[in-house]
Amino acid sequence: MTSDPLAAAPRRKIAVCPGSYDPVTNGHLDIITRAARIFDEVVVGVVNQGVRKSQAVFSAEERREFLTAAVAHLDNVRIEIFSTLLVDFVHAQGAGAIVKGLRAISDFEYEFEMNQLNRRLADDIESFYIMASPEYSFLSSTGVKELATFGGDIGDLVPPGIGEALAERIAR
Ligand code: ADP
Repeated sequence: MTSDPLAAAPRRKIAVCPGSYDPVTNGHLDIITRAARIFDEVVVGVVNQGVRKSQAVFSAEERREFLTAAVAHLDNVRIEIFSTLLVDFVHAQGAGAIVKGLRAISDFEYEFEMNQLNRRLADDIESFYIMASPEYSFLSSTGVKELATFGGDIGDLVPPGIGEALAERIAR
């Protein structure tokens, strides 16, 4: 009987959840948590500087620290900062998948375009999309920052400690 080399050394299924996470919200955590149930390992990729976004409120290192605290209970999730092409980062992590959250049609249009571009660059990487939970489908980092700027209470939209950190940063 010939042995199956793949069965002997099963490949770990690793997915990357990329984003700015400026700051992480409960909507991000929902997607990361759900991805961590499906994949063996999830790498949360914090974009050091996004092309479509203005200057981040928090440094990449601060964003990584917030995420690290927020996913401490998930033992198959780790956080990495990257400043390269997403597909290069995915390859460097030994991952074969990208996982993104979809909130609205507008997210879909952007993701559809990015998917085509990424597949042109690396057709060995597959992208997966998880629908936002209804309670988070309105939630974005941008919205949270806007609310905080005008003194709105964001305590139930973000993990513990982030509301205070954001209020303090905005006050500066
Ligand atoms: P944002 O759009 O809030 O600035 P990011 O650029 O950090 O977020 O997004 C990282 C990923 O998380 C993207 O795939 C985005 O669609 C997803 N995401 C962000 N907020 C939510 C949410 N409330 N529910 C589901 N997915 C989300």
